[in-house]
Amino acid sequence: PGVAASAKAATPLEALTRVWGYDAFRGQQAEIIDEVVAGRDAVVLMPTGGGKSLCYQVPSLVREGTGVVISPLIALMHDQVDALEQLGVRAAYLNSTQSIDERRDVERRLLAGELDMLYLAPERLPVAQALLDAAPIALFAIDEAHCVSQWGHDFRPDYLSLSMIGERWPGVPRIALTATATVETRAEIVERLGLHDAQVFVSSFDRPNIQYRIAPKQDAKAQLLRIIRDEHDGAAGIVYCLSRRSVEQTAAWLRQQGVDAVPYHAGLDASIRAANQRRFLREDGVVVVATIAFGMGIDKPDVRFVAHLDLPKSVEGYYQETGRAGRDGEPSTAWLAYGLQDVVQQRRLIADGDGDAQRKRNQTMHLDAMLALCETVECRRQQLLAYFGQPSEPCGNCDTCLSPPDAYDGTVPAQKLLSTIVRLQRERRQSFGAGHLVDILVGADTERIRRFGHDELATYGIGRDLPGPQWRGIVRQLLAQGLLRVQGEYGVLAITDQSSAVLAGERPVRLRHEAAQPVRAAKRSAS
Ligand code: ADP
Ligand code: ZN
Repeated sequence: PGVAASAKAATPLEALTRVWGYDAFRGQQAEIIDEVVAGRDAVVLMPTGGGKSLCYQVPSLVREGTGVVISPLIALMHDQVDALEQLGVRAAYLNSTQSIDERRDVERRLLAGELDMLYLAPERLPVAQALLDAAPIALFAIDEAHCVSQWGHDFRPDYLSLSMIGERWPGVPRIALTATATVETRAEIVERLGLHDAQVFVSSFDRPNIQYRIAPKQDAKAQLLRIIRDEHDGAAGIVYCLSRRSVEQTAAWLRQQGVDAVPYHAGLDASIRAANQRRFLREDGVVVVATIAFGMGIDKPDVRFVAHLDLPKSVEGYYQETGRAGRDGEPSTAWLAYGLQDVVQQRRLIADGDGDAQRKRNQTMHLDAMLALCETVECRRQQLLAYFGQPSEPCGNCDTCLSPPDAYDGTVPAQKLLSTIVRLQRERRQSFGAGHLVDILVGADTERIRRFGHDELATYGIGRDLPGPQWRGIVRQLLAQGLLRVQGEYGVLAITDQSSAVLAGERPVRLRHEAAQPVRAAKRSAS
């Protein structure tokens, strides 16, 4: 640990230049820091990479006492403390991975006034109360504050107990930070943490150097490989998959194709996981194939692409994961492939999952917003920012801006599909999944069609004008628009309350044409 840094800084700017070696604050950092240094509460909504950490680290070096940071991720805590110690900041953490002796030593240093910053896992707060009572506290920082939101995408029960901080230490300023900024989350953070008097700082969520692209899934791995080879050869990237199995398979396949890819998921041996993460962070051009467990707090500036091979469960998750690309401000790609199967699977996961009706409604809302982003014919960025409450103009740097999709009147195909479902239900008390329904529409001659006598249905072959893959795209879009729903565990399709208006010809259906080949990779430009 360094020497000079342990002394308190006279001003925030002095701390910034002396300890971090930066010359100026970014965005709203200075205002936020002044607020906390003056002893007032703040709520900070800032995108990933925006520079949230300095907002509580700098005041901890200016105010008397120790800055206490509540952070939900033990691995992240460790990294942050390491980085601070390298800068000469006297930092430590308390969490469940430590031995009693290690914890005692940290407690001793805190009480002796030898710590500028103390990182604490939320579940340790109740047991650490008496300890914190005995030490001068500079501030409380509540990182990843959206974890307090019970209906959000990342709820952690331990966060609910953080409301006691304001009651127990009323004179100590609190700063709550998150990169999730829907209006609802914001209100929930204020409410549950009792931050009614806090000033709320909302930064722009735009990441202009990230090019957003969402493509229909054909052969996802091959589509991905083409993007890596054509646009990001030899560059670092993150590929997200839903299951551990597909993580392993994708990583192995990419390696066969000559991409330096490593897997990362919670089921891997801890030493392998650490080694793979280390390679990704320290070496150039390593591609990590991972479940979403990977990346929280990963601060690698030159990640050139983030690819999703499976549909994220929420826009918040999508934004956070794609936000790991291009922290250095250089042009980067966020690419997502999704298909009919993703929609069916996610809907089914919600239906079969634990939780009460309210929780399921909430998950459905999250998924619907994500699907709306996937199916939009408008600018993706505009829609993404609007979701976070930020109005904007079409960006010119997303797939829909660069190659606007054709929208067409899909009312007639939608009616053909919906009426096939209705007839099967009414006339035969049967329901089927997408594959068989499409077979009926295109008039396929399969064993199943013959066995069920479906070649005698009035709707058999009425969709011959369109090819099978296009029909699957239509099914997917109708699912996304809430005009179809998945029922039961076999992916059986059923109509919804809204479909009757379509069948009655009272509601038109807009659909997007899918390019036969993936949308042409746009110029890599940040503006
Ligand atoms: P967040 O927590 O919001 O995702 P970080 O606090 O990790 O973001 O900051 C992202 C990166 O930006 C870090 O590498 C950090 O050192 C850098 N950074 C933050 N503020 C400044 C600044 N004022 N000047 C230069 N670099 C900064
Ligand atoms: Zn756009």
